[in-house]
Amino acid sequence: MTRSPSIVDQLREGPVLGDGGYLIELERRGYVASGTDQEQVGTGRGSGQFTPEVAITNPEALRSLHQEFLKAGSQVLQALTFFAAREKLTRAGYGRETERINEAAVRIARDTAGDQARVAGTISRTQLFERDGPTAAAHARDLFAEQLRLLESAGVDFLIVETFFRLDEALIALKCARRTSLPILATMSFRPVTTQSSDGKSVAECAQALVDEGAHIVGTNCEQEPRRMLEVLRRMRDAVDVPIAGQPAAFRTSDECPCFTRMPEFPDDLESIQLPRREFTRFVRTARSEGVGYIGGCCGCNAAYVRAMRNGLS
Ligand SMILES: [Zn+2]
Repeated sequence: MTRSPSIVDQLREGPVLGDGGYLIELERRGYVASGTDQEQVGTGRGSGQFTPEVAITNPEALRSLHQEFLKAGSQVLQALTFFAAREKLTRAGYGRETERINEAAVRIARDTAGDQARVAGTISRTQLFERDGPTAAAHARDLFAEQLRLLESAGVDFLIVETFFRLDEALIALKCARRTSLPILATMSFRPVTTQSSDGKSVAECAQALVDEGAHIVGTNCEQEPRRMLEVLRRMRDAVDVPIAGQPAAFRTSDECPCFTRMPEFPDDLESIQLPRREFTRFVRTARSEGVGYIGGCCGCNAAYVRAMRNGLS
């Protein structure tokens, strides 16, 4: 496969199919801890749950999932560096392995991708803002800078700055990411409501602010199922003129609780709200016709969902 120079150029030529969600799938397979016995999950404050040490504890499990996504048609593999900032790993007992985990995650994704897919390094919210408030900014900045240095030196093709509930924290991450020379895809996750970030900025304001801070592609990921996420994507598309990315979760939410990590089913009863993959085929067709360029899945999407999305694109 011949790859164009960057993910941004590739999006100018046509849609790009991403991959699915890693941590939820690897938790189901027994390689990631959900943390249910350690804390009240779904609070957003977090301690040790859903951390990505699988990259060093069971690398073959991670490699297998990458291979499944690639075979299903993913044109991008996300290195499993979500929640791999030192502070979050420390809470899970893996802080001293921060370098190893980030490097291993990128290497495993890169080995699997070969020349068939791009490799993205992801950074995500630190959970410090939920715990300590805006005074966490300086600490968060240091954590982002460290992880970005690791990702850049491990050799990712581009960055995904993702799953931010607060715009202020996303902008700090983005400012750090801009110091690299890598293209940046930035996505917010809307929780507890779909109309604004948890620090009170509208969807359109978020999209515009991410672009103003230097994101090349903006969008939303996680928390909502495709139908609910489409509304968010439309608001973003109408607000900015950079490529738009959508990576929904595969769980049914409700009008009262439109985010799956606050549903009572999270994390141990998610099977009871699992969506059929067909909804992702429909999502891709609608999203595509409405101008969404980068399309993938998040939590709850395994390779079957990526295949369903590929069918929607073809
Ligand atoms: Zn997710």
